[in-house]
Amino acid sequence: MPYDYDNQNIFAKILRGEIPNDTVLETEHTLAFNDIGPQAPVHVLIIPKGPYVSFDHFSAEASDAEIADLNRSIAKICQMTGVAPNAGGNGYRAIANCGTDGGQEVPHFHIHILGGHALGAMLARS
Ligand code: AMP
Repeated sequence: MPYDYDNQNIFAKILRGEIPNDTVLETEHTLAFNDIGPQAPVHVLIIPKGPYVSFDHFSAEASDAEIADLNRSIAKICQMTGVAPNAGGNGYRAIANCGTDGGQEVPHFHIHILGGHALGAMLARS
């Protein structure tokens, strides 16, 4: 089955410059910006510039250069924000939500980097 990408999603609009963002890092293939509704003192979203809907879509179809660039950008963000233990921080959580069960709100692949205080249990029990 092909992946279904909606180019009217809000991150596609950010990438086209149609709405503003609070950029933390920009590279050839990747953009990182502060989440508009931060859920921790550090809450950065890292997105590929290419039209990928989810982590599995990106991992299946992005080029090696795009995949390397996004991963290297995550490392840079963890250093720049100071959440990485080797940058003096106490750690962080990386989250990629997908689809309805994953609670994904924006259908453009993104990694959340959250940190700056203790984040508690990985999942709320329901
Ligand atoms: P998810 O539920 O994984 O799709 O997360 C989407 C995230 O995007 C949420 O944490 C929102 O707060 C964030 N968000 C939505 N619109 C914007 C925006 N214009 N700029 C920055 N973050 C946004």
